[in-house]
Amino acid sequence: MKPRRDAVRAQLDRLGVEGVLVTKPVNVRYLTGFSGSNGQLLVGDADAFLTDPRYEEQSARECPDVERMIYSTSAKTIGEAAGMHAALGTLVERLGIQRLGVEAGHMTLAAAHAIREKLPVLTLVETNEVVETLRRVKDEGEISSIGRACAYADQALGELLGALRDGMTEVECAAVLEDAMRRSGSEGASFPTIVAFGEQAAEPHHQPGRRALRAGDLIKLDFGAICDGYCSDMTRTIAFGTPSEEMTEVYRLVAGAQQAGVEAVRAGVTCGDVDAAARGYLREKGYEFGHGTGHGLGLEVHEAPPVRAGAQQVLEPGMVITVEPGIYLPGIGGVRIEDSVVVREGGCDILTGSTKELVTV
Ligand code: ZN
Ligand code: ZN
Repeated sequence: MKPRRDAVRAQLDRLGVEGVLVTKPVNVRYLTGFSGSNGQLLVGDADAFLTDPRYEEQSARECPDVERMIYSTSAKTIGEAAGMHAALGTLVERLGIQRLGVEAGHMTLAAAHAIREKLPVLTLVETNEVVETLRRVKDEGEISSIGRACAYADQALGELLGALRDGMTEVECAAVLEDAMRRSGSEGASFPTIVAFGEQAAEPHHQPGRRALRAGDLIKLDFGAICDGYCSDMTRTIAFGTPSEEMTEVYRLVAGAQQAGVEAVRAGVTCGDVDAAARGYLREKGYEFGHGTGHGLGLEVHEAPPVRAGAQQVLEPGMVITVEPGIYLPGIGGVRIEDSVVVREGGCDILTGSTKELVTV
C-alpha cells in the first residue's frame, strides 16, 4: 500500500500543505488495507495510522507496513474524538505540519470545528477527491476482486431463477438474492437490492415492497455483492411467464442500447462518448432515460468516473465502469440492463457473466 500513499505524498506541494489527514473509511482502506470502522491516516513526510484500542489487533494484521498509533479512549480523554485529537497533535508537531489538508467531501463541519478548537496551531485546507482520483484506475488485484464479486451475484441470480413462484413478493425475492450472495462468499450486499415487478419497474430505483408476482410480469433486479471490500453491480430484467408484446419490444431496444454502450468502451474515448452511444440508440427510437448511462465501480458502488452526457473524463485502461441504459413507462413497466466492465486498450472485458438474452421462467 505504500506506493499508493507515496502518490498522495507527491501531491502535498501542489495542495499547499505539509500533510493530509484521510478520514473517509474507503480511502483509509485504499491507502492502508485497514477495513475497520474507525481509523484515520496522516500522510506527511512520513505516514501514521491512528485508531482506537478495539482495532489494535486488526490493524496490526491488516496494515503492518505503516506506523500505528492507538489512541486512548479512557475517561481522561472522553471518547474517540478526544483521543484522536491528542494523537494528531503529537504527530503534527513531530512532522512539522502547520497546514493540514482534510477531505472536504467527507469531514463534517463539526469535526473540522473540533480540530480547530483543540489544535489551534493548525490551518485546515480543504482538498477534493485526492484519493478518489487515484482510485479510478484499478490494478489487476482490484479487478480480480470485483470480478469475484460479480461471480457471486451471477450465482445468486441462478439460484433466484429456480426459486421464483407465483405470489412471491418483491421483498422475498430480494431476500433470496441477498442470502444466495452471502452463501456464495459475498461480504454483504453492495447496496440495497432493487427488485421491481411489472409496473413497479417504471421507477428506476424502486424499493422492494409487498407486490406479488403474477404471470406476464417482467422482473427488474439490480443488485451487487462484495469481495475484499470491492463491489459488484448488475441489473437484469427477466420474464415470469410471457410478457406483453410492448414490453418484449422494449426489452429488445434496451438490450440493443446496452450493447452499443459496451461496444463504445475502450481506452481513449470519453465517458460522454459511451453515454452518447447508449442514449443515442434509444433516442433514435423515441425513448429517453433520466439517469446517467453508468458510473465507476470499486470500493464504493458509485465512484468516479461518472458516465454521463457530455462527461469529458477520458477512459484509461484499468478503469471499471457500468453501462446501464433503461426504458421506463409509468403505469406499465420498465427494463434496465447493466454490466460492469473493465476498460482495456482496444475495448473492454465484461465482468458480469449472466446472460442478457430475455430469460423466461
Ligand atoms: Zn446497478
Ligand atoms: Zn449501477
